[in-house]
Amino acid sequence: MRKNIVAGNWKMNMDYEQGISLFSEIVNMVKDEVVSTQEVIVCSPFIHLAAIAKLSSTVKNVSIGAQTINEHDSGAYTGEISGSQVKSTGVEYVILGHSERRAYYGETDELLAKKVDAALKHNLKPIFCIGETKDERESGSYFEVIKNQLSKALFHLDAETFKNIVLAYEPVWAIGTGLTASPEQAQEVHAFIRKTLADQFGQEIADNTSILYGGSANPGNAESLFSQPDIDGGLIGGASLKSRDFLQIINVFNA
Ligand code: PEP
Repeated sequence: MRKNIVAGNWKMNMDYEQGISLFSEIVNMVKDEVVSTQEVIVCSPFIHLAAIAKLSSTVKNVSIGAQTINEHDSGAYTGEISGSQVKSTGVEYVILGHSERRAYYGETDELLAKKVDAALKHNLKPIFCIGETKDERESGSYFEVIKNQLSKALFHLDAETFKNIVLAYEPVWAIGTGLTASPEQAQEVHAFIRKTLADQFGQEIADNTSILYGGSANPGNAESLFSQPDIDGGLIGGASLKSRDFLQIINVFNA
């Protein structure tokens, strides 16, 4: 059966020392609790990865992720970081397709398909983000948008390989805005995503895929979101920068 997961996306926040101390707080809190969340993932800036990957080995269910990789293995790509480099720091996951990277760095689904392949080649599991803009929500085209994102970036994979993917439904209008999809709105899309996966890869794969919700999730709304049948946890931006808030979200699965 699919795992429940709470993943934090620190984005471009935290200098080196701040990141290490935030991560140490998270590890210590998780260690002291009986945590029913099956996997806690912290996706930090590149500068923290090696150090926090080392710290994470002291606690059972905490893993580390990067926030992007380059699609190439190595070479003259100044400023970029490859999947093999990220993997060499000891991390397991990488966020791909985040709407901020789609919007600010022109990442298309075609490019993302290559990044997905690069991640998998180096044994990194993609946390792949999909979601519609405000206009697409209001025009009612959001199912089509999401289906397109899935099929262009992920449906070249075979079913066995797809088992390594975690999905995150992140309506763009809800990210960092304080607006959250209602549990019903989120559940509607999560159920649609699972049905689309079943059509492509079969019901068993669809049932075993963790689909996270992201978009202004916080300690006050996480429980109503995560209790929906097709919502398997969250990808958390702002609220992952405060260890207490993040822990409260992780603890939703204990309730
Ligand atoms: C995100 O960046 O993936 C995210 C969901 O951010 P926030 O929780 O701040 O909306």
